[in-house]
Amino acid sequence: MTPQSDDIPTRKQEIPIVLILGHYAVTGLSKRGGELWGPCPIHNGGREKRDLHIDVRNNSFVCFSQVCCAHGNALDFVAAMEKCSVQEAALKVREWMAEESIATEGTSRGRGERSFSKSAGFNH
Ligand SMILES: [Zn+2]
Repeated sequence: MTPQSDDIPTRKQEIPIVLILGHYAVTGLSKRGGELWGPCPIHNGGREKRDLHIDVRNNSFVCFSQVCCAHGNALDFVAAMEKCSVQEAALKVREWMAEESIATEGTSRGRGERSFSKSAGFNH
């Protein structure tokens, strides 16, 4: 184990998966290094189950439940939650970003989030 910062990966074209977890208010995750384990909100796994594994550094997730098997990146997560296509998921995320930047306008933190939503970029 090497000490790693908790920096959110900011690769272009990619939404930080932790942002998505925040949007869905996913709780009960336990942190181990750059990884999060917890109940899977996609198939509504029980609180005591720890099927969902999120790799914060690679910005990916995988659910180890055999009834679910969801995996992918942040947009795949949204698509699985919303039961929509990845394309639609990207649109939804863009809407959330816009709403959040309006909600936090006027604060210095809001400026940071705005610049994020601009720099995040989307695949068209
Ligand atoms: Zn699952």
